Amino acid sequence: MKSILENRPALKEEVEKIAEVAGYLWTNGWAERNGGNITVNITDLVDDDIRQMPAITEPIAIGEKLPHLRGCYFFCKGTGKRMRDLARRPMDNGSIIRILDDCEHYEIIADNPVMPTSELPSHLLVHDKQVETGSGYKATLHTHPIELVAMSHHRPFLKKDVLTRLLWSMIPETKAFCPLGLGIVPYELPGSVKLAEGTLNALADYDVVLWEKHGVFAKGTDIMDAFDQVDVLSKSAKIYIDSRAMGYEPEGMSDEQMKEMTRAFHLPK
Ligand SMILES: [Zn+2]
Repeated sequence: MKSILENRPALKEEVEKIAEVAGYLWTNGWAERNGGNITVNITDLVDDDIRQMPAITEPIAIGEKLPHLRGCYFFCKGTGKRMRDLARRPMDNGSIIRILDDCEHYEIIADNPVMPTSELPSHLLVHDKQVETGSGYKATLHTHPIELVAMSHHRPFLKKDVLTRLLWSMIPETKAFCPLGLGIVPYELPGSVKLAEGTLNALADYDVVLWEKHGVFAKGTDIMDAFDQVDVLSKSAKIYIDSRAMGYEPEGMSDEQMKEMTRAFHLPK
């Protein structure tokens, strides 16, 4: 069977980027079994032939009405699929969906009827907000970075911007490359409406949010951007934990050094 990616270099490149990131999630130990999700808005890469492509499933209810996603297209990781498999065979472990005109249903158009992640409604809720606000963000990522999840088990770290300040202070680049810091979403049942709402609220002020005792959710201009922000935060978390393992509380950059970074790199905070 012909793949939708054939003779579409821009779309192919985007899906290859998703596969590359899925491989990083697995090799980092952040994606055990079928853990984690990726959803990318590929509407800008869709041509007229794709718009005419017949669906390969019946319409499927989203469970939400998402008025800004009418006619949008997404690549979604498949439910129960593993990141390590997505890395090698993205179109067998994910699919491309079209949001229907009622904004309440979608259909799969390619390559195979791989049902999207059960977290699709919460990912689409975030995408709906990005389109509404014209943010330019196209990718959402959920994964389980070990050190950041470990830090989310310590109550004092969950106060607003305590972890942001700590992680920024471990290495200057973290502030430069994750300039909005790390938001906190209190524990809620995975897949619940409360978790989705808490995430949406926190993403108004941050690009990456930490789900207490679970993982992170990140938005980015593309999937690499979302991954990079989680990666730099995770690097800082490792430096903090290594310092503690060597028996001391790391000094961290001073307030003045942090302010200097803000000025030099024209950072928002
Ligand atoms: Zn998870």
